Amino acid sequence: MVRRTKIVATLGPATDDPKMLDKIIEAGVDLVRINFSHGSPEEHLDRVEKLRNRARAHGRQVGVLADLQGPKIRIQNFKDGPIELEEGATFILDSDCGSGDGNQERVGIAYKQLVEDSKRGDTLLLDDGRLVFWVDEVTSHEIVCRVVVGGVLSDRKGINKQGGGLSAPALTDKDREDVKLAAKMEADYLAVSFPRTADDMNQARELLRAAGGKAGLVAKIERAEALEVTEEIIAASDAIMVARGDLGVEIGDAALPPVQKSLIQQARTMNKAVITATQMMESMITNQIPTRAEVFDVANAVLDGTDAVMLSAETATGMYPDKAISAMDRVCREAEKQELAMTSEHRIHTQFTHVDEAIAMASMYTANHLKVKAIAALTESGDTPLWMSRISSGIPIYALTPHISSRRRVTLFRGVYPLSFKPEGSDHAEVNREAIDELLRRVAVREGHLVILT
Ligand code: PEP
Repeated sequence: MVRRTKIVATLGPATDDPKMLDKIIEAGVDLVRINFSHGSPEEHLDRVEKLRNRARAHGRQVGVLADLQGPKIRIQNFKDGPIELEEGATFILDSDCGSGDGNQERVGIAYKQLVEDSKRGDTLLLDDGRLVFWVDEVTSHEIVCRVVVGGVLSDRKGINKQGGGLSAPALTDKDREDVKLAAKMEADYLAVSFPRTADDMNQARELLRAAGGKAGLVAKIERAEALEVTEEIIAASDAIMVARGDLGVEIGDAALPPVQKSLIQQARTMNKAVITATQMMESMITNQIPTRAEVFDVANAVLDGTDAVMLSAETATGMYPDKAISAMDRVCREAEKQELAMTSEHRIHTQFTHVDEAIAMASMYTANHLKVKAIAALTESGDTPLWMSRISSGIPIYALTPHISSRRRVTLFRGVYPLSFKPEGSDHAEVNREAIDELLRRVAVREGHLVILT
């Protein structure tokens, strides 16, 4: 059976070797993430070009998700490499400290506003919460902290404030430039980091369209404030990402599981796609097999109804990028066999507003109840397969379209598989026959199978 849940892998130095690119494509990557937090524009463009070349060679469609850095607040660099901080020590975040001048006492912060956003009693979390600082005192340029949880601190690690409340706008000057880069690389999706409102998404969309980009917009839900306006943010986006790294730091790790479930549910109900991200196979950065807990995490996200599961450092800098994808692949397939993954009450009590959506829903109802072998959706934009795939099902949905942008768009949708289709016939009967012939040619169905065609 083909895997329905899609796998997003972050590209990085670990996937730069063309042999590794081949391996991750063979292992089943559906989309790659280009993380604008690291690397130069040239590197990003080069990675996308190589990836697309290799995907073409494999006859595969792999989507590209460009991920803006956003106002991620980071410490600057240390003079002599990583330092180790003991519990109870004093450590200073200093906006006047030079970029490479960090030492055992202090380190620079590029985002000067952090000093104004901090006050005595705040808790700052560094390196995705691995280190915890309590703010003791704030001067004009220093945040004097007491180390509550210590550990190793290295260059450019992120800083979050517990409970949220940092004033940084979602789109930085760098992001505005990177939006143009995303348009230039013809990214299929653009992820906006740390949006607080629907307006942040609208602004990003305007900038992208002005730069000529056609990508779908992904809102990374990673701020406590965003959880108060999820409906508006989802409505303004094409997809969301449950960005568990930063979100978990802001709202606390224990609050994440119910939030993940409700975000996935909400996105699906609103006919949007959803990616579950961060630390899904974290131990595979250095190990060849996942932990049992990681296996459960991926399987649970599949049962929650996610469209895609994402790998970050596991593929960007890890030792076994292809093995991490293979592990996800096998866990997703197994989870998808459960009844829970195949049934849903999606929009069962909803009045439809689009005729096309009503047809898509009726097709899925029929498909699930007749147990057809495949659904062939002839589509221009990819909307029909998106609507169809919001209904949980075990039946593959083939998106037949002449447009490459639509084929790449559907790489994100659960249970949807892109097929290039340029019919020659002019009437319905001919086009339908050609569509069926295409499915037969791809061995998606065999003679005698029941198929729904829309
Ligand atoms: C996250 O915080 O979970 C996330 C996906 O963001 P990034 O990897 O860009 O920090």
